[in-house]
Amino acid sequence: MNIGTSQGQPHRPQSASCWLIAAVLLGWLPLGILDAEGASGPRILELQLQRRDPKSGAVSITTERVASTNVAIVMIDFWNYHWCATWVGRAGVMIPRMNQALIEARKLGITVVHAPTDCSSGHAGTPQREAMAGLAPQPLPKPSDFNPPAPWGLGFGGGCMCGGPYTCAANYGWTRQDPRLLIAATDFVSSGPHELNNLCVARGIKHVIYCGGAANMCLLQKQEAMLAMIRHGYHGMVARDITEAHSEFTAPGSADRATEKSVEYIEKLIGPSIHLIDELRKAGSWEEQALVDAPILVPWGFKLRPKFFDTALAVSLSIPRLPGAEIRYTVDATEPTAESPLYAGTLRLNDTTTLRCAPFRNGRRIGLESEGYFVLMPPKPPQPDVFISDLRPHKMNMAIWSEWYAEASRPDPRPDRAYDGGPLRLRGVNYKKGMGLRAPSHLIYEVKPEFDRFVARAGVDEGLLKNDLGRERAMYPHVVFKVSIDGHVAAESPVMRISQEPWRFNVPIPPGSRMISLAAAHAGEFNPGELVQWVDAGFTLKPGATWIPPEKLHQAVGRTVKLKTDPAPVYATGGAAVLTDGRMDALQGRRGCLGFEGIGLDATIDLASSIPIERLAAHFLQDTAGGIYLPTEVDFAVADENGKNFRTLATVKQSVPTSEPGPLVHMFSTPAIQTRARFVRIRATNLGQIPVGHSAAGAKAWLFVDELLVNPNGSSAL
Ligand SMILES: [Zn+2]
Repeated sequence: MNIGTSQGQPHRPQSASCWLIAAVLLGWLPLGILDAEGASGPRILELQLQRRDPKSGAVSITTERVASTNVAIVMIDFWNYHWCATWVGRAGVMIPRMNQALIEARKLGITVVHAPTDCSSGHAGTPQREAMAGLAPQPLPKPSDFNPPAPWGLGFGGGCMCGGPYTCAANYGWTRQDPRLLIAATDFVSSGPHELNNLCVARGIKHVIYCGGAANMCLLQKQEAMLAMIRHGYHGMVARDITEAHSEFTAPGSADRATEKSVEYIEKLIGPSIHLIDELRKAGSWEEQALVDAPILVPWGFKLRPKFFDTALAVSLSIPRLPGAEIRYTVDATEPTAESPLYAGTLRLNDTTTLRCAPFRNGRRIGLESEGYFVLMPPKPPQPDVFISDLRPHKMNMAIWSEWYAEASRPDPRPDRAYDGGPLRLRGVNYKKGMGLRAPSHLIYEVKPEFDRFVARAGVDEGLLKNDLGRERAMYPHVVFKVSIDGHVAAESPVMRISQEPWRFNVPIPPGSRMISLAAAHAGEFNPGELVQWVDAGFTLKPGATWIPPEKLHQAVGRTVKLKTDPAPVYATGGAAVLTDGRMDALQGRRGCLGFEGIGLDATIDLASSIPIERLAAHFLQDTAGGIYLPTEVDFAVADENGKNFRTLATVKQSVPTSEPGPLVHMFSTPAIQTRARFVRIRATNLGQIPVGHSAAGAKAWLFVDELLVNPNGSSAL
C-alpha cells in the first residue's frame, strides 16, 4: 500500500461557483479573524493526555503542563481533492471545527503548521511556505527505532468509502491544502521533518498536536507526521476530535467506527490523544456558541459531482462529533428545521434527491447543515440501429477545431475511437462504436424519416488515468451533455466527471424533426484536456423501417482506390479512401469529397478479387455558387485480374443543366450489367470552365466526387 496516495480533502474549489456551492453544501461560511488581534495571550495549558492499555484497551488519563507558546498544531493533508466523494464529505465537515480551533489556538500563541506533504509545492512562493523554508537549519535528532506494528487491520486507504453502487475509481489531483482551511499570516507551511524541527527548535516546541487525515495512514506515516516526529524525540499527540480514518465501506457506520478504532490504535501503540476543543475550552479560549459540526452523509455527492444510483440508494447520516444530537432532514431541497423528519436509520432514496440535514437538540439548531445530491440513473437504453459514427454530421464544432480550418495537429472528431486515438472507454468498459471529441463540442445530425429515438451513453474520457501526469489532472474535467432537437433541449445529463457511470440517453424523436444536436459543454470553466465520448450512440429505427449501413452500401466499401489525377490539396482531406467509405453526404458539408480544379477524375478501384459486376455508379456534387459542377460525362470501365486492358461498359452523359444552382447531388449510374471484374476504372470529365453568366465565368470549374459504387445495395439509400 502506498501511504502517499491515501487521503485528501474536500473537493477542489476550482471555480468560484464550485467553491461557493461547496461552502453552502457544508453549511459553512468563513469565520473571519485571521490575525492574532485581541489575543487572549499565552498561558499554561494542562493537556489531558489519553492513552490505552495495549492489551485491555483500558483508558488512562495523564495531565501535562506546557506553555501554549511551546506547542504546535500540525495539520496533515487537509487536501483540496480526493477521488472518493464520500471521503471528501467526511474530511470537509472537519474544516469549520478546525478553522475555529485555529483562530483560538493562535490567540494563545500556539504555532500553526500546515503540512500538505505530497503537495507542499502547491504553496511554493506563499509567505507561510517561504517563512518555513527560510528557517535556520538545526540538527535533526537521530531517530529512535520505535517501530509499532502497522494499523493495517483498520482498513486500507486507496479505496472508496461510498458503499456503491458506483464506487469511486482511484485518481489523483490534490495540489494543496483545501482553500477553505484558513491559513493565517502567522502560520507556516512545512515540507518534511527537517523544516518542522527547525521551527520547533527555534520556538522551544516539544509538544506537537496532529490534526487531519487520515488517522490510520498519513497522519501517522508521512514524513513529518506523528510517528516520525515521535522517533525524533517529540511529544506527538493526535487531536481525536479533528481526525478521520480513510477506510473502505463495509457497512453503514463503518467509517465512523474506523476512525474510533484508528484513534484507539494510536492511543495503545503510538502516543496519546487529546480533545483539542476541550483543551481550548479549558484555556478559556472557545466560543461555545460557534456552530462547527455538520452531519456526515454516506455515500455523498453534490451538484458538481453527483452520486449516481439505479433504482434505490441507501444513505446513512451521522454526526460523531456531536454525540446525542438529533439529525433532521428534508428531501425537497428546503432548509431542515426542528420540525423536519428525524433521522432514525438508513434512508432509502428512490428518485433524484437533494438531501439537506442539520443537527438539533431540544428544538434548537446546534450545528451546521450538510447537503447531498443523489441522481437516479435512467434505465439502460437499447442499442442503436444506426450509429452516429457511421453518419456524416451536418455540422461539427469542437474546442480549438473547426471544419473550416482542419490541421493535422488537431485531428477531426474521431469516429469509433477516443479523441486521443485509443479505444472508446468509459468507466473501464470498452465500446466499439461512438465518437471521441474534446469539450466543448457540438455534433449536429440530420434526422432521417426512418429514425425513431436517439439512444446513447456519454461520459468524460478517462484516458488521463493511463499515466500519472494525467491522473493529476483527472479531477478537473466536468462536463454536461445535452441533446437538442430542432433547437429545444430534449435531454441533459447532470455534471459528469471522469470514471462516473456514463449518462444514458433515450430520447424520442418527434415526427417531422429536422436536426438533432449533441452538445458537450463545460460545467464550469474551461479545463484543457476535457475529452468526452458519446458511445453506443445513434438512432433506433421506426418499426418496419430499413437502413443500409455504410459498409453494406455497395461492394467497393473499404476497397483501395488509385487516382491518376490529383485533387486540389485543400479538398483532399481523407485521400482517395473517402471515395469508397460508404458515406454519401456531399450535401452535408464538403468533407468526405475530393475536389478537382479544372481537371477530371481518373480513379481505379481494386476489388481484391474478381467478382460479378451488376451495376456501377458514381456520386457527384453541383454547387454553382462555389464553381462546382457535375461532370459532363462519366466513363465506367472494368478489367480482369491483370488490371490492364480496361473495357468500357458505359459512358453516362450529364443530364442536369449547369444552370441548376444546387447544392445538389447526382448519381451517374450504368444500366444493369452482367460481367466479372477485379478492377473498376471510373473517369469523369470536368466541365472545364465556369460558364458564362457566373461571376467567375472563365475560371477553372470544380469537380467534386463523393463516392464510387460497385453493385449498390437497394435503391432507397441512393
Ligand atoms: Zn467513494
